[in-house]
Amino acid sequence: MNDCLFCKIIAGEIPSTKIYEDDKVFVFADINPIAPIHWLVIPKQHIAKITDVNEDNSAVISHIYEVIAKLAAEHDEFKDGFRVISNCGENAGQTVFHIHFHVLAGAKFGWSVD
Ligand code: 5GP
Ligand code: ZN
Repeated sequence: MNDCLFCKIIAGEIPSTKIYEDDKVFVFADINPIAPIHWLVIPKQHIAKITDVNEDNSAVISHIYEVIAKLAAEHDEFKDGFRVISNCGENAGQTVFHIHFHVLAGAKFGWSVD
C-alpha cells in the first residue's frame, strides 16, 4: 500500500461517507463541503492527476462520467444542474494527488478565478 490518502479511503483504512462503489470507482462525501452536495469521485486505480491520464488508463475516466450521470439521474438535487471539477497541480489548488472529480450540486453556482 502506498501513502496516498485516497487509496487509504478506498481500502477502508480511513473512514469516509460512501455514496457509491463499484469495481472501478469509489464516491464519497468531501470532508469540507462547499455546496449542499459535495462528493468526490475517484478511480480505485491510483492515478495522481489529469496529466497522468493516457491511453492505457483513460477508460476509467469515461466510466467516472457514466457514474456521475447515473448518480445525477438518481438524486433530485441534480435536476437543475450541477458542476464537476478536477483540479490539476499547484495553480489549480490540487492538494490530494490521487485524481478526483468534485461533484457539486444543490445550489446555483457563480463562476470566477480567484
Ligand atoms: P483538491 O484540493 O485536491 O482538489 O481536493 C481535495 C479534497 O479532498 C478537498 O476538497 C478536501 O476537503 C478533501 N479531503 C481531504 N482530506 C479528506 C479526508 O480525509 N476525507 C474526505 N472525505 N475528504 C478529504
Ligand atoms: Zn491513491
